[in-house]
Amino acid sequence: MTAAPAIKGWCPTLLSPMQSGDGWLARVKPSAGCVSADAARLIADAARRYGNGHIDLTSRANLQIRGLSPRSAQAFAEIIIGAGLASANPSLEAARNVMASPIGPDDPSAYFDSHVVARDIEAMLVGEPGLWALPPKFCILVDGGGVLPLANISADIMVRPGEGALTVHLDGGTRVALCAPSSLAETVKALALAFQRLSAQRSDPPRRMRALVMAVGEEAIFAEAGLTAVHASARLTPQGKSSIGLISFVDQARSAFGVGLPFGRIEADALHALADISERYGDGNLRTTPWRALLLTGLAAADAKRLSVDVEALGLIADPADPRLNIFACVGAPSCLSASVDARGDAARLAAAIRAARDDSLHVSGCSKSCAHRGSASLTLVGRDGRYDLIRNGSAADRPSLTGLTVDQIEALLQSAKGQRR
Ligand code: SF4
Repeated sequence: MTAAPAIKGWCPTLLSPMQSGDGWLARVKPSAGCVSADAARLIADAARRYGNGHIDLTSRANLQIRGLSPRSAQAFAEIIIGAGLASANPSLEAARNVMASPIGPDDPSAYFDSHVVARDIEAMLVGEPGLWALPPKFCILVDGGGVLPLANISADIMVRPGEGALTVHLDGGTRVALCAPSSLAETVKALALAFQRLSAQRSDPPRRMRALVMAVGEEAIFAEAGLTAVHASARLTPQGKSSIGLISFVDQARSAFGVGLPFGRIEADALHALADISERYGDGNLRTTPWRALLLTGLAAADAKRLSVDVEALGLIADPADPRLNIFACVGAPSCLSASVDARGDAARLAAAIRAARDDSLHVSGCSKSCAHRGSASLTLVGRDGRYDLIRNGSAADRPSLTGLTVDQIEALLQSAKGQRR
């Protein structure tokens, strides 16, 4: 019997690591998602030396280092802070949750440079200690549009391209404030401070913007921030390219290349080697993304084939049709204390059984918390007391069609379905 998933309400940071089944885990939050090859090697070497060498890329585009001890977590943090990759102030480091669309200035079709705007917001946070008390999951998103927009990702405050201006949205709202890039950080600051003031007035203060919007209405929040909001004009969600493989830009000699991480994980040795590859073929930069992929930039398209071979030799994904991209699995047991099943090991075993149909997606979750994937999948398996509940074409929140299955039984079911499709 395993404990129900723990709802912790906080996120681990570099300076507040969280205990897990395989030790303590800490997060490195690269500013604007940019990591130089030198920084990537430093993170990889420190993760291997002080942790167990497993590095996960989170849905907020942060690097999560696993297998630390309370003592080694401190040594790890000192290395990361010493390299200028994090703040030494624990409160600021916890509040520094700014996600930017990953290609930034390299994409000529982007509406604005998301990296500059994200760094302006980070600088604003440094100078505004009152905002260091924002709830730990409170996140600001900067989407510059272009070939890899963050259109399907939400956050508490979102900056997106608008018609002739930048638009600032609140999660759960339908209105936007319009502003120029130069006043963007001040607009975000006004809205974050308004969130704090209005939340504090309530007996049960909301911890996220969506909850405050539901409680008081978005007009009240914009008004508290001294902003005029207009209805957001309906627009189609832009379709981004695949984040895996070669990513070309209009009229640009240089390209980017997306490297998929199976199950969102990269080992320290592979990260070190990928940093070397980024220098061999490109401009020596890596970008983190929320899509279980790292991007390399400044590459010649002619090198894509050789680069793919080198990437795949590391066990990473270079082909956008790779079926592993359709498989989601959290760490499961024994790494997570809430799990009773080896979600990742079982997912790897079951992957072969669904490989026949490339469009099939599989989500194996160690428990109902569903950390690896919030959406639906062709097949969702949710661990419970050492077995799995099975949901077809739904998410972990949906009613299972079969319960209490062993992984052997699931494999047999998949094999027989595959046989029927032939
Ligand atoms: S979904 Fe997986 S990682 Fe998340 S709490 Fe449950 S077992 Fe742990």
